[in-house]
Amino acid sequence: MEFIECPECGESNRKGLFRCWKCKESLNPEIKPVTPEIKPTHVAVALSELPSDQAVSQDLGVCRACGAKIRNGLVRCSECRTFTRPEIERIYREKVDGPE
Ligand SMILES: [Zn+2]
Ligand SMILES: [Zn+2]
Repeated sequence: MEFIECPECGESNRKGLFRCWKCKESLNPEIKPVTPEIKPTHVAVALSELPSDQAVSQDLGVCRACGAKIRNGLVRCSECRTFTRPEIERIYREKVDGPE
């Protein structure tokens, strides 16, 4: 059995313990459980609360079919796969559906 010395009171503690049995000082500060302050859900909520008219800025567009926000430069909506520009859809359909 290995022992480590408490940095706070010098008491011998069994290795593997998180806290000194005597003074409760953390023996391994680097593996002390830390509660994350930023939760991903908060970020998602903040994004969805953006006013849609502000989202339509320089680098955001809105799908004309489903209203999803899409980056400018994308050819198709990432949500419903609708083409963002009619002219691109026309060219695409000419290639795909055109006579062979
Ligand atoms: Zn201690
Ligand atoms: Zn869409």
